[in-house]
Amino acid sequence: MKALVYHGAAKRALENKPKPVIKEPTDAVVKITKTTICGTDLHIMKGDVPTVTDGRILGHEGVGIVEQVGSNVSNFKVGDHVLISCITSCGKCANCKKGMYSHCENGGGWILGHTIDGTQAEYVRIPFADNSLYAIPAGADEEALVMLSDILPTGFECGVLNGQVKPGDTVAIVGSGPIGLAALLTAQFYSPAEIIMIDIDDNRLDISKKFGATKVVNNKDGKAAEKVMAMTNNKGVDVAIEALGMSVSFDVCQAIVTAGGHIANIGVHGKPVQLNMDKLWSHNITLTTRLVDTVTTPMLLKTVGSGKVQPKQLITHHFTLNEVMKAYDTFGNAMKERALKIIITNG
Ligand SMILES: [Zn+2]
Ligand SMILES: [Zn+2]
Repeated sequence: MKALVYHGAAKRALENKPKPVIKEPTDAVVKITKTTICGTDLHIMKGDVPTVTDGRILGHEGVGIVEQVGSNVSNFKVGDHVLISCITSCGKCANCKKGMYSHCENGGGWILGHTIDGTQAEYVRIPFADNSLYAIPAGADEEALVMLSDILPTGFECGVLNGQVKPGDTVAIVGSGPIGLAALLTAQFYSPAEIIMIDIDDNRLDISKKFGATKVVNNKDGKAAEKVMAMTNNKGVDVAIEALGMSVSFDVCQAIVTAGGHIANIGVHGKPVQLNMDKLWSHNITLTTRLVDTVTTPMLLKTVGSGKVQPKQLITHHFTLNEVMKAYDTFGNAMKERALKIIITNG
């Protein structure tokens, strides 16, 4: 089968690989119909994720059709349309029972396209299929649902839920890439009074306004914090969501969080950041971190089904699996190409 294979920093190829087979009775093999590329895949391509080794098929998002099931899979059968969660989980260990699927103690967590082969291929093997796949309702828009593998639950769980966004809140989201935009879309479940989007790309800020941002701030001049303080009568924001994973964006969050407020980190940090305890020690703030658990996926499926949230707006480009190398080039040049999420179709 065709697959996008990682061969060390900056080296990738579209190659022929053996079709995956059932290894454990709890596995399923899924024929991928649609997948996408994540910002995390770009981190991997830079060599930032050393746990990804030479020869690994990348990708942790997608939808498909069940091709084969192990003898212990009871929730799915051959031919079922399924959404693949970016988090694989047994559903039975202590962490899974707490709803912390991201830290599944039986070898789950973020493993797809990381420590086992992923979804940017014609087929993928999904361990613990019963708990790691979701049935797609008949008639659902499968392209929109690709956004539910990772970015929507990530923006919602790590940003909105951890940040405890409430009605009337002032929320700032630092970084308006797909994850920041997913937080913007799902923050609106709670009717905050203001959502301020911060980025350095005017195109993405314009898109943010269409997606419901009430104010936007371009941080090209590095003055985002001053501008947000001026917009909020020097009070700052109730919730500052970090959606970039850099010290410059984390610093903005620390500078604008109001007394009693929340900083919710989503970004993948490759380097340490400074925590300004000299200011924050007395500020009654809460700082949260999280790897997405995808426990809200069933709820998000309903909101997408009803049209309450429309993640399809995030899709800007389409490619076939044969064009996956070009798709990476486009996504890697997201600002110039005005790319948000890219759909890669198999077949
Ligand atoms: Zn991802
Ligand atoms: Zn588990």
